[in-house]
Amino acid sequence: MLYQRSSSLFKEAEKVIPGGVNSPVRAFGAVGGTPIFAKSAKGAYVHDEDGNIYIDYINSWGPMILGHAFEPVVNAVIEKAKQGTSFGMPTAIETEIAQLATSMVPNIDKIRFVNSGTEACMSAVRLARGYTKKDKIIKFAGCYHGHSDSFLIAAGSGAITFGTPNSPGVTQGTAKDTLLATYNDIANVKALMEANKGEIACIIIEPVAGNMGCIPPKDDFLKKLRDLCDEHNVLLIFDEVMTGFRLAPGGAQELYNVDADIVCFGKVIGGGLPVGAFAARNDIMDYLAPNGPVYQAGTLSGNPLAMAAGLAMLQHLNKDGTVFKRLAEKTEYLHQGIEKALQANSIDHTINRMGSMISIHFEAHEVVDFDTAARANNERFKRFFHGMLKEGVYIAPSAFETWFISDALTYYDLDATIKAVDKVSKDL
Ligand code: PLP
Repeated sequence: MLYQRSSSLFKEAEKVIPGGVNSPVRAFGAVGGTPIFAKSAKGAYVHDEDGNIYIDYINSWGPMILGHAFEPVVNAVIEKAKQGTSFGMPTAIETEIAQLATSMVPNIDKIRFVNSGTEACMSAVRLARGYTKKDKIIKFAGCYHGHSDSFLIAAGSGAITFGTPNSPGVTQGTAKDTLLATYNDIANVKALMEANKGEIACIIIEPVAGNMGCIPPKDDFLKKLRDLCDEHNVLLIFDEVMTGFRLAPGGAQELYNVDADIVCFGKVIGGGLPVGAFAARNDIMDYLAPNGPVYQAGTLSGNPLAMAAGLAMLQHLNKDGTVFKRLAEKTEYLHQGIEKALQANSIDHTINRMGSMISIHFEAHEVVDFDTAARANNERFKRFFHGMLKEGVYIAPSAFETWFISDALTYYDLDATIKAVDKVSKDL
């Protein structure tokens, strides 16, 4: 593979964009090397600026569940654009997508559209605080809910401790209201609840974690969280930015049969355009402006192009009764093939999978939370990443990311990927 043009584009970008990228992970900081500049993509493949072609397992970090440049989505955007790109006035299509989304997802009556997953989670937490009139929130170490201040908190030293900010610019004042818990450890959450009785507004969680690799909830963890929240009068927020409209039509709530109080969306719901959303039952959503006192707004929220892309995507997912099953089957096939290849080459690993989310940790033991994920062999991951890239397979440039399977991937692509894993594993 030649990366000449990507290299020179990166050099130019670095002069005018911090780190040459508009979102840090794109810079290849965790794996080294020069980021690849995308030129176009269709179906399961991404084409870079040097003319290389890759089987894509990032899929824009999740949104392209049906593959790139999916025609109904592209056509919907083109048709909408001809009628004007933004009005700052309500449009019929916003109600149409809201009706469809609330019909697909259990337990939500109303939905508010924003422009990113970050905004969705930030607004959901503000709503939870306003509704419960309490300040503190619990988040889980290793879960990512976007880059708003309350979420950029790293683990403290003890189990029952205030978090410390992990980015300059996040104040101690903000950090003290974010409590950190351990994923899949209900005793730990219970202890935090007891130690902060009457002060916690909400627990926010990725119901299947995807930001420390893929880590599914274990042993009825979500049900137990629900019970704990009911006991302590705390709202449960499912951050379904990754899992929403990916694991099932109704996301993780449907898959695990657990009701959240507020649900956050992003990625798939925008069909590849910048969209986020948060949703809940009427009494909570009516606490939001203009009906209620909690303020939230956006000049481009509900943008017609974004709504057209999202609506076309959801319509297709809603209509195709077998898409989620097919995605899970493809992911299972990939899992089995990769497992065999890594075993044959005696590479220590753990593969976690749920629906169309899958990840490999180069770690022999079970990976259930941030600490066990962080134990994995990161140097080996770097070699794996660059080896796969050379074989024409594009996975996320970080050991802490999930692979996203798209329905555009054929079994031919999956076999090619498994073959690449086998080849690359020989030099790991
Ligand atoms: N929540 C989760 C679970 C995510 O994975 C992400 C982004 O990857 C976000 C929130 C933030 O979404 P955005 O990047 O659209 O702001």
